Amino acid sequence: MKTVTFFRGDGIGPEISDSVFAVFKAANVPVAFDVYNVGAAEYERNGKLVPDAAFASFERTKVLLKSPITTPIGKGFRSLNVLMRKKYDLYANIRPAKSNPAVVTPFPNTDIVTFRENTEDLYAGVEEKISDDEMHSIKIITRQKSERICRAAFDFARKNGRKKVTCVHKANIMKLSDGLFLRVFEEVAKDYPDIISDNMIVDACCMNLVLDPTRFDVLVMENLYGDIVSDLTSGLIGGVGLMPSANLGSDMAMFEAVHGSAPDIAGKGIANPTAFLWSACLMLDHIGLKEYGDLIRSAVANVMNAGTATTPDIGGTGTTTTYTDAIIQEIKRLAAMAA
Ligand code: NAD
Repeated sequence: MKTVTFFRGDGIGPEISDSVFAVFKAANVPVAFDVYNVGAAEYERNGKLVPDAAFASFERTKVLLKSPITTPIGKGFRSLNVLMRKKYDLYANIRPAKSNPAVVTPFPNTDIVTFRENTEDLYAGVEEKISDDEMHSIKIITRQKSERICRAAFDFARKNGRKKVTCVHKANIMKLSDGLFLRVFEEVAKDYPDIISDNMIVDACCMNLVLDPTRFDVLVMENLYGDIVSDLTSGLIGGVGLMPSANLGSDMAMFEAVHGSAPDIAGKGIANPTAFLWSACLMLDHIGLKEYGDLIRSAVANVMNAGTATTPDIGGTGTTTTYTDAIIQEIKRLAAMAA
C-alpha cells in the first residue's frame, strides 16, 4: 500500500473526489489516501485554507492528489494552487490535451502537451498599490527557472517520442523578460538536436491553435501564457472537464484537474469527474502503479465510447454518480476478463 495525500477541496471538489474514491476501490488500487478538507469552508472554520497536518502529510508522502479549490476574485486570500506550486517548487505544470473519439469536436486529431512554468512570471504575487487609481504587478522571469522548464519540455519530448517543442512568448513586446525566456529556450534546444524546436508569439499561437491544432506537438511557456493557452487547448478537445495535469518538482508531485471548483454547478450532481480521474491515473503512473492507471483509463474510454452515460458537459445524460457507476461496472468487467 502506498500512501498519497488527498485534498478534497470545495465547489464540485467533494463530488468528483467521491468518484475517485469509488473507482479506486473498484479497481483495488493499492493506495491509501490521507484525506484532508481544504478550501473556503476550512478557511472560514479556522482561518487557514489548509490545516497544518495536511501540509505535513504532503511533506511526508511527497505525492498529492488535489481537487479544485475556490479562489475569491479580486479580493480575499491568495490562490492555494499558486501557493502550493510556489511553496513546494512544483515548477513543471504539464497539461496534455488529446482528442477523444467519444467527444465530437471540430478538432479530432489534437494531441498537444503544454509545459507551463509554475513558479514565477506575474504569478510571483509582487503587486504594489501606487494609489487608488494605479496598481502595479511585477513580472519576474529568471534564467534558472526558464531553463529548467524548457529542459523538462525537451526531456519529455525525447522520452515520449515527440517531434517538436514550440516556445510560446511575447518577446517582441517584453523584450527583456520574454526575451530572456526565448533566449534560454534557444540555448537549451541546442542540447536536443533530435527534437525540432521553434517559437511563436502567443497571440499568433492562439489563432493557429484554433485554425489547425495538428501543427503543434509540445508547447513550453511562462506561467500566465501557460494558464490561458492550456485552457484553449482543453477547449479543442471538448472542455476543461477532460484535462488532467501534473505539477512536478524535483522530489514532490501534485496532480489535479485543470478545471476549477465550478461553483455554477456545485451540488447539482452533474460535475464531470473525468479530468480528475485522469489526473489520478497520472499520479498512479508517477508512483509506479501504471497498470492500475491503465485499467481505469480503459474503463473510462469504454464508457465514454458507449455513449450517453457521460455527464452533460460532453453530451451525455448521466450524473456524476451514474457515470461513476458505469465506470465501476466496466472496471469489474475488464478485471473479470483479465482474470
Ligand atoms: P471553472 O473551471 O471552475 O469553470 C469554468 C466552466 O467550466 C464552468 O461553466 C463550469 O461549470 C465548467 N466546468 C468546470 N469543471 C467542470 C467539470 N468537472 N464538469 C463539468 N463542467 C465543468 O473555472 P472558473 O469558473 O473560472 O473558476 C471557479 C473557481 O475555481 C474560481 O474560484 C477559481 O479561482 C477556481 N479555480 C481553481 C482551480 C484549481 O483548484 N486548480 C483551477 C482553476 C480555477
